[in-house]
Amino acid sequence: MSLIHAVTWQVLTGPKTVGILGAGQLARMLAQAGLPMGLEFIFLDPAEDACAAELGDHIHAGWDDEAALTELGKRSDVVTFDFENVPESSASLIESLCPVYPPPRALLISQDRLREKSLLQELNIPLAPFVPVSSRPDLLAAIEQIGLPCVLKTRRFGYDGKGQAVLRLQEDMERAWQALGGEDLVCEGFVSFDVECSIIAARGRDGRTVFWPLTLSLHREGVLAISMAPVFGAQMQSRAEGLIQRLLNHFDYTGVMALELFLKDGELLANEFAPRVHNSGHWSIDGARTSQFENHLRAICGLPLGDTECTARALMFNLLGEMPEAADLPAVTGAGQDHVHWHDYHKTARSKRKIGHVTVTAESDTGLRAKAAQLAGDLGVAAEINLETLMLGLSKAPYE
Ligand code: AMP
Repeated sequence: MSLIHAVTWQVLTGPKTVGILGAGQLARMLAQAGLPMGLEFIFLDPAEDACAAELGDHIHAGWDDEAALTELGKRSDVVTFDFENVPESSASLIESLCPVYPPPRALLISQDRLREKSLLQELNIPLAPFVPVSSRPDLLAAIEQIGLPCVLKTRRFGYDGKGQAVLRLQEDMERAWQALGGEDLVCEGFVSFDVECSIIAARGRDGRTVFWPLTLSLHREGVLAISMAPVFGAQMQSRAEGLIQRLLNHFDYTGVMALELFLKDGELLANEFAPRVHNSGHWSIDGARTSQFENHLRAICGLPLGDTECTARALMFNLLGEMPEAADLPAVTGAGQDHVHWHDYHKTARSKRKIGHVTVTAESDTGLRAKAAQLAGDLGVAAEINLETLMLGLSKAPYE
């Protein structure tokens, strides 16, 4: 039987309805990957204008609404989530009605930076030193232990650089405490990294695991601005795979996971992991044989995982705030621009909100840089996202 036949047959006989806790852009892209596979989607999300809702049924309810969670569990064959702040108790309630993947335990750990870092340490995954902080004297002691600069972060609900403050001088302590004190915190060493990267893996119900190429990431003000792959050599790839594999095995994981890493002097240090599809893997929709979204669905539905090989060199720009008019951008609509892939999440414009992305693909590295530079110019982010500086950061580090 060919793979296509095998997949179609299994979808027909296996899970048909996928429930998703969350109906943001990640849920939307999961549905965009799953509809052609014959899957149907039900989303639970308190937001009235949730952008995935146009691709399935939307149960409009809070994360802790037991009746709504029960309805989702009863109507779905399998349930997953599109962000990690879903209460673990909600995922566990659904688990009594239908399978939930990834395992809610991974959700529980990733929701709390202290638990997350403690697990990384336990699994011998290198990371910056860290200390829990819940009072001013704790913070003082943490600074003494870790040294300056350091980063103070809330244990929970921090994302895209929110809920954190960098302390460079002793005098920064009071400002950081004023901003974040009163919550449970963790203080960690500041990593003066050469570049940031992330490794994304999909693990099937049978334990088979596939990896996308280690992806280079550039953040601006704590938010992912661009990601690019493939970039790194085989040795770095296999080291990153080895690190994420420890997490996958620990959780007996099913689905897609991303591990964000700092690369410094040739060493990989973990920042955090996400038990879900990840922004730094969006390029895989247009640059790999199987995207992270399709493989997440294949994994949670018990289907064979698809090939993650790159079909091109790819560079993704996040679009934040307000969606540019594609028709006004020569890099998108000009002649021969079929390598520019436009993704509009249909979200209302709001300052710094992730509202879309655009991926440029090319056969060669030089071609990719030229096209990306043209698009960065059109988008008005050429100065902010200096590709050459990024490459310089990369060339400083031995990355083969
Ligand atoms: P996070 O919310 O922890 O993913 O942090 C968002 C971004 O802030 C990261 O992608 C880094 O660019 C930066 N960052 C976070 N933690 C550190 C650190 N310990 N040292 C240096 N930069 C950091």
